[in-house]
Amino acid sequence: MKKEVKKTTTVNLKTILKYKAMEKKKKEDFNVGKAVTAQNEYQKRTGSPAFPPSSGVCWVCRKNIYVPYEYKGANGETYLVGITVKEAGERLITGCPHCNRSYCD
Ligand SMILES: [Zn+2]
Repeated sequence: MKKEVKKTTTVNLKTILKYKAMEKKKKEDFNVGKAVTAQNEYQKRTGSPAFPPSSGVCWVCRKNIYVPYEYKGANGETYLVGITVKEAGERLITGCPHCNRSYCD
């Protein structure tokens, strides 16, 4: 399992503000296998429909929603964006954190 952070992408200010509102994530918070399991268990526990791709790979942007991508904002700060193991176990994933595509449509 590759753990390194993917390439840096520059994002616009509106997106930066959204990231700023989220807690700062650390590389150690991410694990694709554990996140997939956590999300499957969450769906079973709550009887929720399975929205996210089972592999975690977004069918729109081809990025893995459970893998952290590093985004560099115009303010020079970098943000790790992706779904952590903790998040996958606590809420239903309904969209891609990278391209913001909703899986519910
Ligand atoms: Zn996507």
